[in-house]
Amino acid sequence: ECKQQLDQHFLMFNERMQEKLKHIMTLERELNQAVEMEAFELYYQPKIDLKSELITGVEALVRWPMPDGSIRMPGDFIPEAVRTGAIIPIGEWALETACKQIAQWRDLGARIPIAVNISPRHLKLPEFTDRLLEKVGRYNIDPGLLELELTEEALVETGASNIFILQEIRNAGVKIAIDDFGTGYSSMRYLKVLPIDCVKIDKTFISGGEGNDLSDPTIIEAIVFLAKGLSLDVVAEGVETEAQKNALAEIGCDKAQGFVISPPIPSRLLNQLLFPSSALT
Ligand code: C2E
Ligand code: MG
Ligand code: MG
Ligand code: MG
Repeated sequence: ECKQQLDQHFLMFNERMQEKLKHIMTLERELNQAVEMEAFELYYQPKIDLKSELITGVEALVRWPMPDGSIRMPGDFIPEAVRTGAIIPIGEWALETACKQIAQWRDLGARIPIAVNISPRHLKLPEFTDRLLEKVGRYNIDPGLLELELTEEALVETGASNIFILQEIRNAGVKIAIDDFGTGYSSMRYLKVLPIDCVKIDKTFISGGEGNDLSDPTIIEAIVFLAKGLSLDVVAEGVETEAQKNALAEIGCDKAQGFVISPPIPSRLLNQLLFPSSALT
């Protein structure tokens, strides 16, 4: 009887595995096709200065539109893209698109910084910096308008050799932000030793708590205090309510990003907000 039970478990496990495998293989094929056809789109989420309430920049977030009009979100394909390596052409495409967008805004007389998320697997590529600076040069944009967002894990995992890469990128004028701060290895020392410009406080400290208030004001205050002491810019992510926005301003956080300000939107819609009377829109 015991053996029969074991067999049954084994069978169930197998079926589930097979299903999972089928899903992964389909996704892998679809990802390769999408990379080839450049089927992705960049959405942009504004960041505001909490004192002036003006837009100070945007974060680029990849979207994968489907033929039926639905949109696949990064959480459903980025992990697989990282595993297969498709994240490298996706990242190159995102940087290319961001540079092109900065140039387009420059031609309209606007200076709007764009932050692009970069996977550690991509950053580790020996030709990463050369390719990045080639794009900046080709579009003739101010490198200071481009920012790379790297998670704590990415920055720590890559170790000492990465500090050198980051330094090279920053020497060229491109900015670096530490994303989702407070959720990864979370050593405060990293803020001091890593060559970075900006700290993005993870959204779990901002929203998702009870009511409309900040879910963890004490931790936010500590991160803001620390970042200020190290002369780093601080951005709160995932700001969903007016109460959270006001509390962040009171704490002295520089900038905010979140649904209460704007969700990530396609460039066409952002252009309508930024240049209401332009021929672009
Ligand atoms: P992230 O870089 O931390 O981006 C912020 C995420 O929070 C985005 O999710 C954004 O839509 C979401 N968000 C913005 N405001 C709010 C809010 O008020 N409340 C809540 N609950 N969420 C908010 P999204 O676009 O689904 O992206 C998820 C993650 O996927 C990103 O997290 C980033 O790690 C990764 N990702 C997105 N685009 C790219 C890309 O082009 N390249 C790479 N390597 N990773 C990307
Ligand atoms: Mg980010
Ligand atoms: Mg983040
Ligand atoms: Mg995140």
